[in-house]
Amino acid sequence: MKRVYNFNAGPSAMPLDVLKAVQAEFLDFNHTGMSIVEISHRSAAYQDMQDETVGLMRRLLQVPDDYHIVFMQGGGSLQFAMHAMNFLKRRGGYLNTGVWSDKAMKAASFFGDVYEVASSKADGFSYIPKADTFVVQPDTDYVYMTSNNTIHGTEWHGYPSFDVPLFCDMSSDFMSQPVDVSKFDFIYAGAQKNIGPAGVVVAIIKDSLLAQTKEDVPVVLQYKTYVEHDSTYNTPPVFGIYFINKVMHWLEDNGGLEGAYRRNVQKAGIVYAAIDGSDGFYRGHAAADSRSLMNVTFNLPTAELEAAFVAQAAERGLIGLKGHRSLGGCRASIYNAVTEEGCRALAEFMEEFRKNH
Ligand SMILES: *Cc1c(COP(=O)(O)O)cnc(C)c1O
Repeated sequence: MKRVYNFNAGPSAMPLDVLKAVQAEFLDFNHTGMSIVEISHRSAAYQDMQDETVGLMRRLLQVPDDYHIVFMQGGGSLQFAMHAMNFLKRRGGYLNTGVWSDKAMKAASFFGDVYEVASSKADGFSYIPKADTFVVQPDTDYVYMTSNNTIHGTEWHGYPSFDVPLFCDMSSDFMSQPVDVSKFDFIYAGAQKNIGPAGVVVAIIKDSLLAQTKEDVPVVLQYKTYVEHDSTYNTPPVFGIYFINKVMHWLEDNGGLEGAYRRNVQKAGIVYAAIDGSDGFYRGHAAADSRSLMNVTFNLPTAELEAAFVAQAAERGLIGLKGHRSLGGCRASIYNAVTEEGCRALAEFMEEFRKNH
């Protein structure tokens, strides 16, 4: 077996130690004589595991006591509609910084008025707008933001604050760095970028927000349902939650979120240095002050060279470097599980490819 350097944007690289741990106990979960995918979600063995997962996440992220953590299905995309179904009464404000926030705003528009608090759309979502450009309209229920723009490779460094509740899609930088959860009323993240397989979404919801839920929402689409039933109103995505449990242990064993952040700064520095030191051969998509630590987006002089770059990289075992179909170009996703060694291998290949072309 040969493992590659995996730069996929999502689903994406998972820590090798976690994959091995999952494999090792796949046939016999915690001495039950059954696999985790075979046991009842009403069993004590399952519940203990879920409780531990929530506890680990709460500790790592230092989630305050007046927030609940729940697990749901439907991916990030269901959250685009669900946050509005539950909380959009008059008007929702959106910090429109990428394709995902754009989609969230469109999905929310079925449930009430939506508008842009700020937007970088006209400039290809290449930067994070500055606070002095924000306009919050009267009767705004919440402001919605996307902490890391997976497709464009931009990331908020420091979060804004408003007089209204702040919602955040953290799908692509969740648990990659310490975060002050108390700045937000609602956070969600699809697992498949940083903490697990596709099929499970984590939501962190403040109790005071939950109390303002709209009532005319189908039960399975109310956040309240997930909170009141401790994520087991219906069958939860058990395997995904179990996998997250292993990733939380891995994070805790490796210096927590401070450790993750230190490694991520180091790793991103290696790849951005390859761009910045290329005499313009590689051009970063993101403005320098908005660069993402998770997704490095760049172009080469021509589309032909980009195709050759991606193909030759793959031959070297550097996988997943093609940019998102909506943006083109190249993208290296360097989530928590991508190693510094992988980033060095990429930077060396970039340098070599440049010299050859
Ligand atoms: C990947 C991604 C999504 C979409 O997630 P799905 O689970 O495919 O619906 C939403 N938001 C962000 C920031 C993402 O990176």
